[in-house]
Amino acid sequence: MSNNVYQQLVDEFMARVKVKNPGEAEFHQAVQEVVESLIPYVEENPQYKHAKILERMTEPERVILFRVPWMDDKGEIQINKGYRIEMSSAIGPYKGGLRFHPTVNMGILKFLAYEQVLKNSLTTLPMGGGKGGSDFDPKGKSDNEVMRFCQSFMTELQRHIGPDTDVPAGDIGVGGREIGFMFGQYKRLRNEFTGVLTGKGLEWGGSLIRPEATGYGNVYFAQEMLKTRGLDFAGKTVAISGSGNVAQYATEKVTMLGGKVVTLSDSNGTIYDPQGINAEKLAWILWLKNVKRGRIKEYVDKWGGEYFHEQRPWNVKCDVALPCATQNEVNKQDALTLVKNGCYCVSEGANMPSTPEAVEVFIAAKILYGPGKAANAGGVATSGLEMSQNSMRLNWTRERVDQELHTIMINIHKTCQKYGTEPDGFINYVKGANIGGFVKVADSMLAQGLV
Ligand code: NDP
Repeated sequence: MSNNVYQQLVDEFMARVKVKNPGEAEFHQAVQEVVESLIPYVEENPQYKHAKILERMTEPERVILFRVPWMDDKGEIQINKGYRIEMSSAIGPYKGGLRFHPTVNMGILKFLAYEQVLKNSLTTLPMGGGKGGSDFDPKGKSDNEVMRFCQSFMTELQRHIGPDTDVPAGDIGVGGREIGFMFGQYKRLRNEFTGVLTGKGLEWGGSLIRPEATGYGNVYFAQEMLKTRGLDFAGKTVAISGSGNVAQYATEKVTMLGGKVVTLSDSNGTIYDPQGINAEKLAWILWLKNVKRGRIKEYVDKWGGEYFHEQRPWNVKCDVALPCATQNEVNKQDALTLVKNGCYCVSEGANMPSTPEAVEVFIAAKILYGPGKAANAGGVATSGLEMSQNSMRLNWTRERVDQELHTIMINIHKTCQKYGTEPDGFINYVKGANIGGFVKVADSMLAQGLV
């Protein structure tokens, strides 16, 4: 079949998705990227086509939308929306994070849940895909307000989740504090102490290395990509965006491997430190973001360097870029600038941080480009390891969990290589991750009949 015929099938598929899911731009974007890789594969493997696997995977198994009323410190009533998208349970209980951010809407959560299905499959662990959250903004709220919100949110969510049904975790705006409040409320309402959430504190069922896992895993994935060209992190200049959980631990691991991280950012701007963000500076950033809950621009007052207001890090010259903030934070112009400045490796800690036009630039330039669903799968993989430890009522050592994480990231890289290597030897990680994640889910769906 020619490329034109494939393109026509993609266009027809996307026209149907857009009619069925109007106004959900991020969801359309995520589906388009996946079906562009998968339609040729499905045409060559007609068992998937006849069973309409792609069409079924694009429709969530269940969508839950609910009211979250809570009272602020002034005694005023506030109302937010709560969501849980249960996308696929083909290979295990629904699994995926909760995001608390004012931009949260149905389209964003459906894109995240859709990506999560393939990502979870890539980890090789038995986890289906889901995502949820709220348009609640934890920024500027007191701990008591965050607690009241989390309790109200969980009062409804608890009836839909459970350790064998749906196991949420953190994401943007949901860290250890929020998971703690939600776990406490779940336990109180259900009268059971189970592994219903991951990202828990160490004293109450959490796993060592879970906080580090997404950032470390992303760097392990980048390390594997670099190896295919005989390279490593030693002496390399690395630009990272974001300054939250994923960015913090990506910075730590790059530094441990001898690289120099020169940027971090938040939604207000970017800091640039040409000397590199060493362990001492990073420890201060963890305090700034996780304890003081301050802004990244405060870094330059303390440690020097430059602050670029309302700019992203991508104008800074680097060898490796790790986008670790949010979706669509690398556009075509950013991608062109990165490539022009000599960047040869982009590994996504965030979900869908590169726009489709940016991805085209990376693939056309044949640089090492690791899409989020492969490169940031270490977080959910380690959540899977937390679930295993909860089931066994055991705690593994730091070394053991880190070793398991590292092995999983190496294996995800191998899967991408298997399905994504092109005739000239170039590894198209987008194609590799999409097909590699798809096969297990699709075969399970075939085996389980029309459900
Ligand atoms: P955090 O809330 O800890 O940090 C998010 C960071 O990104 C903050 O620095 C935040 O800045 C910045 N950010 C958020 N929204 C925007 C925006 N609209 N524009 C610019 N900057 C923004 O979240 P995480 O570190 O956990 O998540 C970061 C990314 O990684 C997300 O895409 C998430 O889906 C993905 N991810 C996370 C996993 C995890 O285990 N936590 C697992 C896999 C993927 P500010 O403080 O100004 O909002």
